[in-house]
Order: sequence, then C-alpha cells, then structure tokens
Amino acid sequence: MKRKIKYLIWCCSVAILALTAIQTYFIYNTYVLKEQQAQIAVRTELVHMERTINIDSIRNRWFLDAENLVRTKGVEVAAAFLSNGSAAISKQVSTYIQENKILEKYNTVYAVTFRQVSLQGKGSHLQIRNKYWFGNGNIHDQDQVIHDLILHDLTTSNDVGGALVRNFNSRSSFTIIDGRNNIFREMLGLLIFSVFLLTVVILLFYFSIRSLITQKKISDMQTDFINNITHEFNTPLATIGVAVSTVRAQLIEKEENSVSLNGLNVIDRQYRRLKKLIDQVMTHTEASGELIIHKVNIPLMNFLEKLLEDFQSAHPEIELLLKLKEVPREILADPFYLTTAMTNLLENAVKYGGIQLTFTVVENENNCNFIISDNGIGIAQTEISNIFQKFYRVEKGDVHNTKGLGLGLYYSRQIAIAHGGTLSVHSIPGKGSKFTMTIPIA
Ligand code: ADP
Repeated sequence: MKRKIKYLIWCCSVAILALTAIQTYFIYNTYVLKEQQAQIAVRTELVHMERTINIDSIRNRWFLDAENLVRTKGVEVAAAFLSNGSAAISKQVSTYIQENKILEKYNTVYAVTFRQVSLQGKGSHLQIRNKYWFGNGNIHDQDQVIHDLILHDLTTSNDVGGALVRNFNSRSSFTIIDGRNNIFREMLGLLIFSVFLLTVVILLFYFSIRSLITQKKISDMQTDFINNITHEFNTPLATIGVAVSTVRAQLIEKEENSVSLNGLNVIDRQYRRLKKLIDQVMTHTEASGELIIHKVNIPLMNFLEKLLEDFQSAHPEIELLLKLKEVPREILADPFYLTTAMTNLLENAVKYGGIQLTFTVVENENNCNFIISDNGIGIAQTEISNIFQKFYRVEKGDVHNTKGLGLGLYYSRQIAIAHGGTLSVHSIPGKGSKFTMTIPIA
C-alpha cells in the first residue's frame, strides 16, 4: 500500500508537470501568434500609409533635389540637405499614425532612413549612411531603426555616365513600443485563469493524496487495534474455558442440582460463541494480502453433501434446493477455505432475509460455478461494489438490523481469488441476491 501511495504521488507529480508544460506551451504559442498578428496589422497599415503619402514620388523629388544641389552647390550642401531630414513629411506621418486606430493601439514608431547614398561632385565624393530621413518618432539612435522590423528597402540608381547621386537607398522600418507589455496585458485574463486552474488541480491532487494517506493510517490503526484486542481477549477466554470445564466436572461429580448446571451451560454457550467470534475476527483480519491455500482433489458430491447437511441442520426452517448441472467429479481446492467461503454465502443468504435458497453447481469451461440464490432483501446497485470491502456493511437506513463484522464477503472473495477464481453478485433489492463463485476445476 505504501508503495502504491508513493507510485500515486509520483504519477500525480508527473501529470502536474506535464500539464504545466502543456499549458506553458499553449500560452507561449498564443503569445507568439498575437505578436505576429500585431506585426501583420501594423505592417498592413503602414504600407497603406506609404501609399497615401506617396513615398515613391517623395523619394524621386528628393533624389532630383539632391542632384540639383550637388550640381549647383556641391556635395557638402547636398549632404547637409539630406542629413537634416524632413520635418514636414514627419508631421504628416505623425498625424496619420495618431489618427489610425491600429497604429495608435500598438504604439508604432515609423522611420525612413537613408541606408546609403553616394554623392559625386567635381573632384569630391561623399557617402551618407544610416541617416534618419522622416518618420513619426524622434529616432536619433540610428542602430535602433536599422535593427527594427523592416517594411521595405527602396533603391534608385542613376549610373548613366556622370551621375551625381548614386545608390539612393532608403529603408522603411517600424517598431512596436511596449508590444510585449501590450500583449501580456491582453493575455492577462487567460494567464490568471490558467494559473487558477493549475492551482485547483494541484490542490485537488494534494487533498486526495492526503485523505488517502489518512485513510490508510486509520485502516492500519483499525487492523492493529482489532488484532491486539482479540489477542488480549484470548487469554482470559482460555481461562474461562478451563474454569467452566473444571466447575462442570465438579458439579457432575457432586451431583449438584440442575439449576447450577443450567447456569453453567449458559456460561459455556456464551463462552463458545465469544471464542468463535474472536477466532473469526482474528482469522479475517490477519488474512491480509494473499491467503496460503493447500489444494487437494476434493470429490465434489461428497463435499456438497456434507456442506449442505451441516447447513440444513443449523437452519432446518430454510427451504434449500440443490440444482446440479454437469457437475465435475473432483475439484482441486482447499477444502477448509472452500467450506468457509460457501458457508459464509449460505449464512448471509439466511441472515439477510432469504427463506428459499437455491444452490446450483454447474461446470463451465474448466471452471466450476457455485451459485447461491436467495429471496432475501437484496442489495442496492450502488452498494454492490462496496460489499466486498473489508469491514464494509450495508446498514444505513432501514435496510437491515442484522449484526455482523463486514468481513464475510471480503474473506470469501479472497478465498476465490487465492484459488484463481472469482466471486460476483447480481441482486435486485426486495427480490433477492445471487452470488456466483467460480473456481477452476484443476
Ligand atoms: P456482514 O454479514 O458481517 O455484514 P459480509 O461481508 O458478509 O459482512 O456482508 C457485507 C454486506 O453485504 C452485509 O452487511 C449485507 O448488507 C450485504 N449482504 C451480504 N450478503 C447478502 C445477501 N445474501 N443479501 C443481502 N445483502 C447481503
């Protein structure tokens, strides 16, 4: 049992870890998906914006202006013109972005930079690299813009002999500021719910295992207690037994009156009853785990005759019908345990209201089925799975007020299992029960 609990704790831990891993994987995937969605949405809007502000014509105009300046005022002036960027276009872009819901929502920074422009004047040559041209943010950190998400690169080249501006290369790029935080905020509900669910599952596991361990402790204590108390009872009982025999011998010897003898007989009967009960409890509680059985070939008819004769003499008022169908001649079993199991079932049938009993024996596929049916109070369907448990008794409500230990069926099933067989029940409340014990013939 201890090993079982350890195994269970181990399985639960693995299941929780797997569950956490799967959930983390799904949440991470959702995050990536949302990030991609945001980028796609922003990208689409920016492409639309570039079309609106007509970036191609802006670029061509600036290309021509730069050429004019190189021609008329030299490369330095042209370079300064390009490096200053365009405040006018930047304003137009800022307004557009502020007015656009998606770009506003994702707090977009848009920038167009000169990646590389070569200016070729008379005898002098200059190159402009990574210079901010226009956009909606005050991007001074060129690296930031260059390493951000690229919308597209545009290159114009006029390499026809004597070109003044070559490789007019610009790049549109964008950044979503606080994009991660935004997405996290969007996913907060999902995150909290996942953590909550996981906590609930962990708590459920924890409480189930804790109650299992507590129950195991209680059941161990119960078994220990019963074992101890029955052992303790044995010594005084043995003494009473010896005393009763001695007193009886003396009374008979002195030919005392029958009143004392009658009284002694009552003590004797009660002593025997108590001893039988204690022996029964001891046998059943000590029978933990597997029973050790000693199988021998039992002549079946003979066995049944004795069993039913004993039963009938103890319960002469009960109507017992024996039905034999293809009965095997012999069966390989432990006669003591088999008798105990059969007697338990027969006694129960009487105990729980049966007055007409049928005992059927039938051979079936190398097995011998012993079927005991009664017309007693029956068992509710919900109790069927419990009645074979140790110490379990159906006694809630007005079902019955018969006393017992709740060990008979448990023990009988253990016996069937030890023989490689089974014990099952079919019952209709108010009509009766049918217990079937299947034992391999050999
Ligand atoms: P006990 O008879 O000592 O209570 P058992 O293990 O023999 O213990 O039986 C467990 C429970 O199963 C009983 O409390 C009883 O409610 C139910 N039961 C057993 N046999 C029968 C039967 N033939 N008819 C109705 N109920 C039964």
